[in-house]
Order: sequence, then C-alpha cells, then structure tokens
Amino acid sequence: MLDLKKYDKNNIFARILRKEINSKIVYENNYVLAFEDIHPVAPFHVLVIPKGEYTCYNDFINNASQEEQIAFFKAVAEISEQNDLLDGYRIVSNIGSNARQMVPHFHFHIVGKKILPHKSMEGEV
Ligand code: 5GP
Repeated sequence: MLDLKKYDKNNIFARILRKEINSKIVYENNYVLAFEDIHPVAPFHVLVIPKGEYTCYNDFINNASQEEQIAFFKAVAEISEQNDLLDGYRIVSNIGSNARQMVPHFHFHIVGKKILPHKSMEGEV
C-alpha cells in the first residue's frame, strides 16, 4: 500500500531531483522539473514534478504555495507549447494505490504525439 501521508525522501523522483539518478530533462526552473518517462506509452511522454516535497495531487493543492502551484501549471502549458503538442495531448495524474500510483512524489504525465485511446478512463498511464 502506497503511503501518501509521509513524504519518502528516497523515492525515485526525489533522487532524480537531487541528480543522483540521470533523466532526460526537457524543462526546469526554480519550482518545476520535467523529464522523459523511462517507459513511454506514446512518442511524447514526459513527467512534470514540483521541486517541493509533495506526495500526490491532494498534498500539492492543500500544502504548496500559490507560487509553486502557478509555476507547476504554467510549466505544463509551456511544455506543451514548446513541444508542439497543441494538436492534442493528455494530462494524467495517478493518486494512490487504486489508481496505480507507483512513485509517491506528485507528478503529471503529459502524453502526446499520437492519437490517444478513446476511453481516457482506461488510459495507458
Ligand atoms: P505513476 O504510476 O506513479 O503515475 O507513474 C510513475 C512513472 O514513473 C511511470 O510511468 C514510470 O515509467 C516512471 N518511472 C519510474 N522510474 C523511473 C525512472 O527512474 N526514471 C524515469 N525517467 N521514469 C521513471
């Protein structure tokens, strides 16, 4: 069972943030890092994470500053524009075990550059 109550400083994305583990970074500023998913489900599959320690969407919305939140959501739009995704892309965030969240550091998946499955509820990420 994934524990979303207490932030695990050794989760894989924390280690990517500390640059202990390599990743293919596509975007970075003071608040946000975005990098390619190691198991892409589409030609474009990027993970966007805040640099702050938040386990999931609820933790981020309830506890991050407005500055951090705005920076995060603006980054998602900027990434989509910089990578020519405006002909269609999808944002997914898995929260908790039932949603099969694997990494307990809040993230959005951005997937695009292909025609995505019709039923978003049965999406691939
Ligand atoms: P979740 O199921 O938590 O929403 O998604 C976690 C995502 O992180 C998965 O799509 C998985 O492929 C990706 N991932 C797991 N470990 C690594 C890693 O070490 N590097 C990168 N770039 N992605 C990873």
